[in-house]
Amino acid sequence: MSIELNLKSVKEQIYQAEEVAGRPKGEVKLLAVSKKQSVRAIQAAIAAGQHDFGENYVQEGVEKINAIADNSVTWHFIGPIQSNKTKAIARHFAWVHSVSRLKIATYLNEQRPETMPPLNVCLQVNISGESTKSGVTPDALFTLAEQISQLPRLRLRGLMAIPQKTGDAVEQLATYQRVQRLFEQLQQEGVELDTLSMGMSGDFVAAIAAGATWVRIGCAIFGARE
Ligand SMILES: *Cc1c(COP(=O)(O)O)cnc(C)c1O
Repeated sequence: MSIELNLKSVKEQIYQAEEVAGRPKGEVKLLAVSKKQSVRAIQAAIAAGQHDFGENYVQEGVEKINAIADNSVTWHFIGPIQSNKTKAIARHFAWVHSVSRLKIATYLNEQRPETMPPLNVCLQVNISGESTKSGVTPDALFTLAEQISQLPRLRLRGLMAIPQKTGDAVEQLATYQRVQRLFEQLQQEGVELDTLSMGMSGDFVAAIAAGATWVRIGCAIFGARE
């Protein structure tokens, strides 16, 4: 299992999906999801030219960030956020893809150090309507986006979604297109957004067809997690 070869293959598949979708080459960025992967595996990916990594668990992520201590790496937090963990997130990450509550956004805004640039934020949308998944409902999204765009230490960049797993490519595309429509509606209302974080190892081609700008890929790069 070579991380370098896997990265190369995933990038080629991303380019192909961009081409099929009629999108400019290089518009879709690759976020390597390194949760439950070792520091050594991350270092192998860095050596192969990968510089954006996503972590789901605060303590695990901060430990790896400190162990790797590489300024060329941009760290993204993509997991559920508890209010007692916002301080560590605000201090160690450049992006948070999984904001879905105003209270959490307010804490992140207050706790983002003045010495760091504003924290890039995506709002996680509960697009499949699953009660178990976190995320703001489409109905509540517009008010939340309006409120969060006022917070000076955050920079609202766009939307993130984790649809219910399905093997059906048509269904995957339709779901991602619903996120794309919400994104476009927000833009039409004057909210400045440039980021759609959607697509994982099993469905990133559909996400790219629906306008994804970050795809979050774990096992296709690093292999199965424990
Ligand atoms: C684990 C995870 C991913 C990556 O999933 P893979 O199927 O390993 O590609 C992407 N996004 C989030 C939010 C995750 O938790």
